[in-house]
Amino acid sequence: MAGTTSWEQVRKELQRARGARRMVPWALLSALLGWAFLAVAARSWRAGLPLLVGGLLFAAVIRALSVPHCPACGKGLWLRGERPGPPTAPVPTQVERDHRCPRCGAALDAGGC
Ligand SMILES: [Zn+2]
Repeated sequence: MAGTTSWEQVRKELQRARGARRMVPWALLSALLGWAFLAVAARSWRAGLPLLVGGLLFAAVIRALSVPHCPACGKGLWLRGERPGPPTAPVPTQVERDHRCPRCGAALDAGGC
């Protein structure tokens, strides 16, 4: 019953990553919009630069949060090009079909023998 990694934990990590993944385009868009508005209002494209840089950093953080990590090897659980879908309508990825890390092969459900 006591396992180092339960599938439930991994499943939560995947859902969290799906949620963050959805926010990446919005973070990028709001950074660009904030910069554009400030640039127009101040009539100088430089005025909004700190806002743009901050917004892009924010987007980069969300982008980093949108990758689910394998508890065993720490690498991403989604393969390049996989489309996991939104949290509300998740598309099963390879890790969810196999319950194994696609990179290191570690079993991610402690329920097995
Ligand atoms: Zn792994």
